[in-house]
Amino acid sequence: MHSIIDLTMTLSRLPGVGSKSAKRMAYFLLEEPELRALLEEQLHHLANSVYLCPICACYSQEMQSCQYCDRQRLQPELLCVVERASDAMNLEASGGFGGLYHVLGGAISPMSGITPEQLRLESLKSRLESGAIKEVILATSFTLEGDATAHYLEQWLAHFDVVVSRIASGLSAGAQLEFADKQSLIHSMRGRQKL
Ligand SMILES: [Zn+2]
Repeated sequence: MHSIIDLTMTLSRLPGVGSKSAKRMAYFLLEEPELRALLEEQLHHLANSVYLCPICACYSQEMQSCQYCDRQRLQPELLCVVERASDAMNLEASGGFGGLYHVLGGAISPMSGITPEQLRLESLKSRLESGAIKEVILATSFTLEGDATAHYLEQWLAHFDVVVSRIASGLSAGAQLEFADKQSLIHSMRGRQKL
């Protein structure tokens, strides 16, 4: 049946879900109309209540700037560059950072066809040109793509009057920020190294 195959294909696109689990989920949903309705309602609500901040591209509950850009920050001269909005939320939850964020929207990956042009660099440029940022902290993941992105940004940022640093690799190689625990994130941020 096409609808089950389609759903299985869609579910298998979720992180950490293989084709076997996706198939199980699809059949499970077929037998659970209540869960289906709940998912439908919540996905609809998600699409209509979560926006991207026009400044940093973190999640925002309104169409205006987010809670990080809006409120007084302890270290507004620090700007932490991350791949995804969830990375910024994770760093924020660790309590180890009081600066601002900038979400790139991914990492450079020749394999997936993601080039620097697809990252949010234009808005980063405007933010840096305002002169309020003194240090840019590269907090991309310690993966091949994350390292390539940090390397690219290091060169790109040489045109601006800012200190550039990279979070410490206390996180193991291949580590993605979203899976790092609170202590590792705090340690990683404190131990950042100037490039
Ligand atoms: Zn923001």
